[in-house]
Amino acid sequence: MKKIGMLVDLVESAFRRPVTEIYPLERRPTVEQFRGLLHWNPEGCTGCGLCVKDCPAEAIDFITIDKAAKRFVFRYYADRCTFCGQCAYNCRFNCITLDNEEWELADVDRDGYLITYGRPEDVEQLELAERTEPVSAAG
Ligand code: SF4
Ligand code: SF4
Repeated sequence: MKKIGMLVDLVESAFRRPVTEIYPLERRPTVEQFRGLLHWNPEGCTGCGLCVKDCPAEAIDFITIDKAAKRFVFRYYADRCTFCGQCAYNCRFNCITLDNEEWELADVDRDGYLITYGRPEDVEQLELAERTEPVSAAG
């Protein structure tokens, strides 16, 4: 009797849809509130530095190129980030978002985890300055 039961199970499972998902070919949509990779938008940023002060993981460096002209560079260390969302929550100008679609962040080395946001000319100026002299980060 047991053998017949096993046989029935085997035949049934051969025609049943697998319960596992074929990741990464199949993906479930993430919920809107999911906190993934941080993005920074310089539009509206006042350079207040609150995001740096509020980050419990020291995952943000904020560099001021020219405060009067609102020229800033935002460095994000994704490997330190705990995705708590504190920085995005507290920025009064909605410059920071945590993308719910960008969450597959595994990598083989840490270099890719340092992300520099800013206007291209500001990033270029910072990198040029760093090559010639060390630049101190605000915050
Ligand atoms: S908290 Fe917002 S406005 Fe203030 S420095 Fe950070 S990104 Fe800019
Ligand atoms: S989400 Fe949290 S840990 Fe990540 S940068 Fe913002 S404040 Fe820091």
